[in-house]
Amino acid sequence: MTKPTDLLSLQGNVALITGAASGLGAAMAEHFAAQGARLILVDRNASGLDKLATQLSATGASVLTLVGDMADAKSVAHLAQAALRHWGRIDTVICNAGIEGPVGAMHEAPKAARDHLFQVNLFSNLDLLQKLLPEMSRQGAGSIILMSSIAGLRGNRHIGLYGVTKAALAQVARNLAVEWGPKGIRVNAIAPGLIRTPFAEYLMQDRTFIERRLAHTPLMRVGKPEEIAAVARLLASPGGAFMTGQTLVVDGGTLISDGN
Ligand code: NAD
Repeated sequence: MTKPTDLLSLQGNVALITGAASGLGAAMAEHFAAQGARLILVDRNASGLDKLATQLSATGASVLTLVGDMADAKSVAHLAQAALRHWGRIDTVICNAGIEGPVGAMHEAPKAARDHLFQVNLFSNLDLLQKLLPEMSRQGAGSIILMSSIAGLRGNRHIGLYGVTKAALAQVARNLAVEWGPKGIRVNAIAPGLIRTPFAEYLMQDRTFIERRLAHTPLMRVGKPEEIAAVARLLASPGGAFMTGQTLVVDGGTLISDGN
């Protein structure tokens, strides 16, 4: 039996986080490092990644940074190879890098922008996991966490294509959970509501949007990045060992409220 004090432990866990230079990725990196995880941080933003790694290393954390574009399958293959080589194992993969993509009616989105969105938010994760899962399954255990969104759980006329990629990730979690569960790999998704990060900053400035959103959110506030990091910790730790194929909604209640 796992000791109660070890249930949320990440001691010795090797965690790869994509999109780690900013927002939720950076918060998860800080939280995981503080819990004793060794980190492989991936982002296309080299300076942001460097800054974070320096800050974390100063606290005694073990950090490898890998600069690369998740939209480029070749770059993803290199990242995966370097990541597997570094510590000889990976326990947790957090597929977090994501972009908003084209805004407005779905049928008006330029094809190139639509394809790029799907490449970054969806196919890059399949490319990465295709390389990592067979290796992780040899360890007999592992946790994959896909960053979905409540935008993938209801209709949206503003960022509909983004929602399609996020809905697909929830399905990827279910499919991979079924495929890899017998080998000890768990696959879950997190669907955040509005969380205060650079990604969501422009929405924070839109007073009409924020007033409407908070009126439909029982907790009447936006979320903090660490509130997503804590859920990721649960999914990566022994305490989450019986959860797989799920999409955990972390949104202050936005999705369950009709605003009345
Ligand atoms: P963010 O913009 O602050 O951070 C995203 C990070 O991903 C950045 O560091 C960026 O450089 C990196 N990135 C983007 N494209 C990349 C690429 N092609 N290759 C490598 N790195 C790339 O955003 P965030 O709010 O931290 O969002 C993180 C994830 O959470 C995204 O998938 C987003 O869709 C999802 N999400 C965010 C919110 C929110 O309200 N903030 C809500 C729901 C879901």
